[in-house]
Amino acid sequence: MKKSWEEDRNKIIGMGDNSFKKSYYPELQNKIKELEAANQNLNTIFNCTTDCFVIHDIEGQILMSNKQCKKLFENCTQLNETNNILEIINKSISTSNINNIWNYVLHGNTEILQLAFKQKGNKNKIFIECSLSKIIWYDKTAILEVMRDITNQVYYEFELKQAKEKAEESDRLKTAFLANLSHEIRTPMNGILGFTDLLSHVDGLQDEAKAYITIIQNNSERLLNLIGELIDISKIESGVMTLNLEPVNLAELLNKLYVIFNNQAISKKIDIVLSNEIDYYNYSVLIDKVKIEQILTNLINNALKFTFKGHINIGCKTKNNKLIFWVKDTGIGISKESIKLVFNRFYQVKNSVTEPGDGSGLGLAITKALVELMNGEIWVESEIGKGSVFWFSIPHITE
Ligand code: ADP
Repeated sequence: MKKSWEEDRNKIIGMGDNSFKKSYYPELQNKIKELEAANQNLNTIFNCTTDCFVIHDIEGQILMSNKQCKKLFENCTQLNETNNILEIINKSISTSNINNIWNYVLHGNTEILQLAFKQKGNKNKIFIECSLSKIIWYDKTAILEVMRDITNQVYYEFELKQAKEKAEESDRLKTAFLANLSHEIRTPMNGILGFTDLLSHVDGLQDEAKAYITIIQNNSERLLNLIGELIDISKIESGVMTLNLEPVNLAELLNKLYVIFNNQAISKKIDIVLSNEIDYYNYSVLIDKVKIEQILTNLINNALKFTFKGHINIGCKTKNNKLIFWVKDTGIGISKESIKLVFNRFYQVKNSVTEPGDGSGLGLAITKALVELMNGEIWVESEIGKGSVFWFSIPHITE
């Protein structure tokens, strides 16, 4: 019977039962044992990993593959029908790329491909992530392919993308719906407001009727404000609110607000004072005028609502490349517990000065969101019985 080459080898290198030189080569024997153990370990790793390993020569003939690889090949129609893996991979890649890819790999780089195969027995696809690297296998150049079944991941990603698109679409619809709703409500509300105004001027109205008309007017205004605030919140949330920077003269902006609010302040016997901390008149800054006006309007409205004596001070200064605005009042102040919550949506401090239904608790949440949209910050300092200061800072950009 012909002896196997391993038997000859063992004799020569001093291993095996019938070795001639067993005792002469102890170091060599140890090295061989080490190598055999390493080889065994490699085989174990090769077969216990959940990834598929296949080694093939540069013509595509499979030289070695692990258990997982065999399972995968059995499950994919194209892989099951061939022993030449290169053919299959080449068919899965767009033709113009093939040479580039193999050149890249044969130059010692690792290429990662995503391939799709038909599942055996049905029309489903199996998606495989395949990494290709050059190795030397028994003195010859070969390719190591590590394949991973990413079918579930691909389907999850697809579903996630669809869900995201659907959510974005719903969000757009919600914003459009709210904008339409606002328009649809505003139109009849303006009719109600216009005719109640006419009604209030009719001669000979009794006091009771006048009082009812005032209630209709106040509630209509409140409803319009609420709708406006809900639309603002929805626009901010859905990211459709954008900045529109323009050169603005701060003196003009603050004076305009002073004129708007001064009558209201006079009727409450409160002074509005403007601070001149920068040379306002010769000064233009790039800001979103509409949004700054909206922020200051919200803050001044609150200051007027919660102040019953003293004054309201409005101003602006520059510091560390920032424009810092403030609205100070000598009103009822805010407690330490509530101060942390005033910028939360729908938060209202329970106090004796506001009536149920007065305000919505959205004003400061919108104000904060607008300030943040401008890369700014807003904060408040307050003491019960002494008053509050609302500060906000935004980047100071000059023309
Ligand atoms: P609202 O519509 O109720 O005014 P905001 O979000 O503007 O809603 O304000 C939230 C709460 O913060 C108010 O209900 C009030 O209790 C408190 N607040 C806001 N500004 C002041 C202020 N200047 N002085 C005292 N309390 C204030």
